[in-house]
Amino acid sequence: MGVVLGDPVLTGVDEEGAYYELLPVLKATESKCLRCGDDMEGKLRIGFYCSLDCFREDQRTIEERRQRRVAMHAARHSGNN
Ligand SMILES: [Zn+2]
Repeated sequence: MGVVLGDPVLTGVDEEGAYYELLPVLKATESKCLRCGDDMEGKLRIGFYCSLDCFREDQRTIEERRQRRVAMHAARHSGNN
């Protein structure tokens, strides 16, 4: 599985045992849609996306992947306490 936008550069557990993620900082210089790669130069844009559809689609992907990581983390550490 490749890395997509929103994937953490680091994951871990803090002193209280809570799962955390360190997310990469996005650069605002990008002029292409992060989802479909459309050139957004001089166009109306939604953040890093060319349209609300692209934005929503990417947010959903990011959230799904985050939930999967949290679940995997919970499964790995269950039974240790
Ligand atoms: Zn797009």
